[in-house]
Amino acid sequence: MQAMDEADLQCPHCGEPISLLLDLSGGTQSYIEDCQVCCQPIHVSVWVDEGNDEYQVDLRREQD
Ligand SMILES: [Zn+2]
Repeated sequence: MQAMDEADLQCPHCGEPISLLLDLSGGTQSYIEDCQVCCQPIHVSVWVDEGNDEYQVDLRREQD
């Protein structure tokens, strides 16, 4: 698996398409990143499945 990957996602606040650079070398993680369009904080959750060479990303509003 690549250490970094760019994912095309959608902001849960404004609905605009955004691209996030994910650090897959850190394994499963969650953090806050500001939307590039509306600047509101997005709770980013990344699940890395190293055995299957896959990952999943979920974006939520921070208050959910
Ligand atoms: Zn946004």
